[in-house]
Amino acid sequence: MRRITIVLAVFLFLPALSLGGQARGKSYTVEETLKALGAALSWDPFFDSGVLTLRGGRRLNFYAGEEGEAGPVLAGGGELLTTALPYIRGGTLFFPEAFVAAAGGALPSLPEFTSPPEEGARFRIAAIIIDPGHGGRDSGAVGNHTIKGKTLKSVEKDIVLAVSRKLQSLLQAAYPGKRILLTRTGDTYPSLEERVNTANAVSLGENEAIIYISIHANASLNKNARGYEVWYLTPEYRRSLIDREKYDGTEELIPVLNAMLEEEFTMESTRMARFILNRFTEGLGNRIPSRGLKAENWYVVRNARMPSVLVELGFVTNPEDAQLMADPAYLKKFSEALYKGIADFVAEFESSGGYIAR
Ligand SMILES: [Zn+2]
Repeated sequence: MRRITIVLAVFLFLPALSLGGQARGKSYTVEETLKALGAALSWDPFFDSGVLTLRGGRRLNFYAGEEGEAGPVLAGGGELLTTALPYIRGGTLFFPEAFVAAAGGALPSLPEFTSPPEEGARFRIAAIIIDPGHGGRDSGAVGNHTIKGKTLKSVEKDIVLAVSRKLQSLLQAAYPGKRILLTRTGDTYPSLEERVNTANAVSLGENEAIIYISIHANASLNKNARGYEVWYLTPEYRRSLIDREKYDGTEELIPVLNAMLEEEFTMESTRMARFILNRFTEGLGNRIPSRGLKAENWYVVRNARMPSVLVELGFVTNPEDAQLMADPAYLKKFSEALYKGIADFVAEFESSGGYIAR
């Protein structure tokens, strides 16, 4: 059960300039572009947005526009470029010549186009924070059932702690070089602020990132409601990472630039959420249904400055879910599926060179 529920539907409108009758020039495929720039691409088809990681770790955040449309592209360090936007034609992403030239021009020096990114620019996940919801005087959701004459009390704080502890041991065994932290290890009640501080207090080296997983169990007045859900951060969340002084006279672009930085977090959170959901579907069988991916703006994750997801394991108010969550073997399956989903994300993140705004 989440503590704060604010569902927001958000649409981002980008200012766009038409290049009108100007010659549109040549365009390049993704492969040609990456080769020309010595870059790696992280592309999210859900948001039609991407991040190009150039040699040395410098990144360009962009949205796909219409063919022939110009718009803002955010380069590392808050530098703003306005150039022809990448576009999708026939389901394929293309990069206009002007975009590729601007991307190359954004680098202080580009001695040759084909050398691979520098070793030092490698990104890695340095820490994984696991947040078992509730604890201590806060039981979270509670379900009371009588099944075949036996009473079963299903308590969220206990279920999520068991899953979280097992998840921690799996992750620690797989990643001895990473810090795997729990926001609570027993039946205690850290405040929401303390949970967030645990995450934000981890000191990171250059090119290191941290991920955050909050684990809950659900409740509903409708006893038939059941199944697991994976939540990620909405694009509504805004940070003020853009230095307003730098963009005097471009006031209308500030929200767009903020949205672009935010988009990186959203993209990562969405990727991680999808990996976890896929592993749940694969590992939990059809004894418990999937309620799918959900997007929300909730406190713990909103204030954690890192890619974050929240998982609802099942409904303590549903007799079938409550029985499954009372079974240690089934809770182990949840932990294993979570572990695999996180491992999928870590593998993609680290092999792609990382794509997180920090
Ligand atoms: Zn909860």
